[in-house]
Amino acid sequence: MPIDFEVEPEFQERLDWIDGFVREEVEPLDLYFRGEVSPFDKSNETARTLIAPLQQQVRDRDLWACHLGPELGGHGYGQVRLALMNEILGRSPFAPSVFGCQAPDSGNAEILAHYGTDEQKAHYLQPLLDGQISSTYAMTEPQGGSDPGVFTCRARRDGGEWVVDGEKWFASNYRYASFLIVMVITDPDVAVHRGSSMILVPADADGLEVVSNVGIGGEPIGEGDHAYLRFTDVRVPAENLLGEEGSGFAIAQTRLGGGRIHHGMRSVGVAQRALDMMCERVLSRETKGSLLAEKQSIRHWIADSWIQIQQFRLQVLHCAWLIDSVGDYARIRQHIAGVKVATPKLLIDVVYRAMHAHGSLGVSNEMPLLGMWTMAPIMGIADGPTEVHKDTIAKQVVKGYEPSPGLFPTAHLPTRIEEARRKVEERLEHEVGNL
Ligand SMILES: Cc1cc2nc3c(=O)[nH]c(=O)nc-3n(C[C@H](O)[C@H](O)[C@H](O)COP(=O)(O)OP(=O)(O)OC[C@H]3O[C@@H](n4cnc5c(N)ncnc54)[C@H](O)[C@@H]3O)c2cc1C
Repeated sequence: MPIDFEVEPEFQERLDWIDGFVREEVEPLDLYFRGEVSPFDKSNETARTLIAPLQQQVRDRDLWACHLGPELGGHGYGQVRLALMNEILGRSPFAPSVFGCQAPDSGNAEILAHYGTDEQKAHYLQPLLDGQISSTYAMTEPQGGSDPGVFTCRARRDGGEWVVDGEKWFASNYRYASFLIVMVITDPDVAVHRGSSMILVPADADGLEVVSNVGIGGEPIGEGDHAYLRFTDVRVPAENLLGEEGSGFAIAQTRLGGGRIHHGMRSVGVAQRALDMMCERVLSRETKGSLLAEKQSIRHWIADSWIQIQQFRLQVLHCAWLIDSVGDYARIRQHIAGVKVATPKLLIDVVYRAMHAHGSLGVSNEMPLLGMWTMAPIMGIADGPTEVHKDTIAKQVVKGYEPSPGLFPTAHLPTRIEEARRKVEERLEHEVGNL
């Protein structure tokens, strides 16, 4: 089968339009709101007024909510084309919301599309896809996120209702959300991969309170977008369960698989933007009689950054192609985990070099680079830390091997030489016997 790196001209035209549109129409919103208004805040009238006509242009071109394929009720063109789109959208914090594919709503929409009943789809998925509401995914608990085995947030059945008790931590965008998808323990007597379920909880449910709004880095304490939540006797109708009881773990894999690769796709755009900035700067700044672009160390940084972006981009596109061709996240989990692990490393290296090449200006609040660089540690933790994903990769890779049959490895040279000597001598004897 041929390996084709061409993008069809018709889709390239769409990408060219997206590129111009994001530069001309969307990036000005990032600069106007400067992080003071969240793209998830649907109650902000000014933001709504500015974003709605842009979203309409995206819809008119059939580019809205492309993370879901037609079989799931979206307008998606598959993960490879989504990857190419997301490379562009990754440059701008507002762009994913203008194109209706922002995390965590995209992953939540995927769960609802896969597992939701018709009623759940009408009530939650449609307004989410229409961009009218925001949502939250609540899985992590204060006592641990990497190990679902320590989760205790519990839902028990009481007649026609589920009653939820427990705590969740780092539930992003809860302050803007209309509903949450919560991972709950429905059977504490079995292992978590069989005893957990997903449940829909309205954001204003009685008994649901915010312990604190946790922020990132230097954000003022109490002002952040990641909620520490407490559920006390929160009651929701029995039909709010998503999928089968006990299938929470499998549903989480569906959601997180997509989310992880989408972060990777957008990070290509972030890294490329950093390299663009570095190249412009080093062609504009002289020191000790020559341009920065002529210093050997800077040239190495440019080369190393270009190579890393190229390698990572191909890894992401290959993984996207696998999702399109295999269609089952579980079967390609090592590839998704590979992208997840490579994402923070790419940003740590490429954005750091770009920042450093700008000197004091690079770390100042007059350039976006330090902000871009803080994405690196976040990408290494959100949706599961690097170490856990490396474990996944190693487990999958090792599955393809067998232990050596003897005391020494199959590559042990004295053993191989002895085997080869025997084989060659047998052949020689045979040839001599035929003379
Ligand atoms: C910006 C951001 C947004 C987030 N949004 C959400 C959200 O919307 N909903 C949600 O549910 N969660 C969210 N999270 C939480 C995220 O999923 C967890 O932070 C993550 O799963 C790690 O859990 P933890 O923070 O409890 O770290 P821990 O589980 O305590 O792990 C801490 C460290 O221990 C090490 N470690 C852990 N396990 C292993 C292992 N098996 N082997 C070796 N080392 C290991 C790693 O270095 C890891 O970083 C978000 C996190 C961030 C940073």
